[in-house]
Amino acid sequence: MSLKQEVLSAADQFSLSTYSQQIILSEGHGAYVKDIDGNEYLDFAAGIAVCNLGHCHPTVTKAIQDQAGKLCHVSNLWYNEKQPLLAKKIAESSFGGRVFFCNSGAEANEGMIKLARRKGSRTNKNLIICIDNAFHGRTLATLAATGKKKYLEGFTPDMNGFIHVPMNDLAALKAVYTDQCCAVMVEAIQGEGGIIPATQEFMTGIRQFCDETEMLMMIDEVQTGFGRTGTFFAYQHYNITPDVMSMAKALGNGFPIGAFEARQDLNDVLVPGTHATTFGGNPLGCAAGLAVFEAFENENILENCQALGKFLTAELLKLAEKYDCITAVRGRGLIVGAELSTDVAVGDVMAECRNNKLLVLPAGTNVLRLLPPLNITKFQASQAIDIIDQALAKITTK
Ligand code: PLP
Repeated sequence: MSLKQEVLSAADQFSLSTYSQQIILSEGHGAYVKDIDGNEYLDFAAGIAVCNLGHCHPTVTKAIQDQAGKLCHVSNLWYNEKQPLLAKKIAESSFGGRVFFCNSGAEANEGMIKLARRKGSRTNKNLIICIDNAFHGRTLATLAATGKKKYLEGFTPDMNGFIHVPMNDLAALKAVYTDQCCAVMVEAIQGEGGIIPATQEFMTGIRQFCDETEMLMMIDEVQTGFGRTGTFFAYQHYNITPDVMSMAKALGNGFPIGAFEARQDLNDVLVPGTHATTFGGNPLGCAAGLAVFEAFENENILENCQALGKFLTAELLKLAEKYDCITAVRGRGLIVGAELSTDVAVGDVMAECRNNKLLVLPAGTNVLRLLPPLNITKFQASQAIDIIDQALAKITTK
């Protein structure tokens, strides 16, 4: 039996069928991945905004290799040499807060929710205002914060304590407020929701309203963090500062690590015994995180993201002129989406792109989502556009 047959047979018999997968990927380098048959794909999914520096970035790979030979894990009962240094890097690149490390985006958001509830418990406040169409993760609390019926089906009872209002509707947000509300949780750009950016007015309005009401403004930067939108964190486009912020995905460029950061003066909320994790912030994960920062310091990643984001968006807009089925192009930096009309299924476009060796993603109800590594070249961006062009040509003339 070939390795391919062995893998497929094992998946067929022993993997829980939570995903519908098509190809087996075995190696990656920069913006390219290879499948088990040796086919090379241009990867405009980047592990869903995880490999922002591309696959197997040499600085990150070396840091993981070195740390794996020194010390992988010790538990949070003791300091390790890497964790506080990574917390410092995160604080220095954002709002100078304090950081708690975990392992995923959902866990980072769980931590933010716990912090908001624990702070609120001092004054009997426990409701969190969330946004329709958001995505915050698949644990029970983050599903409740996500609030989308589709994801909640079959998992009742839903966790309560979350109220939802439409994106970019400040009046609606103010209207649901009661003195039981302790926080607002928002994405600067809804990624899974279909690449929907928050307006300046909405973000400034939430900031002001949270200041007036003493609610925490909590921004989920799990998908948008680490340069994805052209600034290190997406909130930095808005000239506001959150009170709490979650991150994960690109923090380890592929090594699973998440975190949330809270304002310095919130340091007395989650005191010893109130929140913890076994793996979070272990030296191996933090070594990967530190290497990510090193790469950002040494390479022009943000500049490239801004320039290539403009190029990719402009090229998609050209495709929108050519194909009526592209009804909108949205995004910022290298989180870009093309909304498709209902007669063209995003899954068909993805499959056609995959046949032509380009990996892309869906989002929202019918949005083609592009999340390439931030250090892609103009040539690679043009290649991707050509493949999408061919895919749309084939699908729309069927
Ligand atoms: N928050 C946002 C904005 C996300 O995009 C995601 C995942 O796509 C999550 C949270 C959940 O992260 P994870 O899948 O690492 O739990």
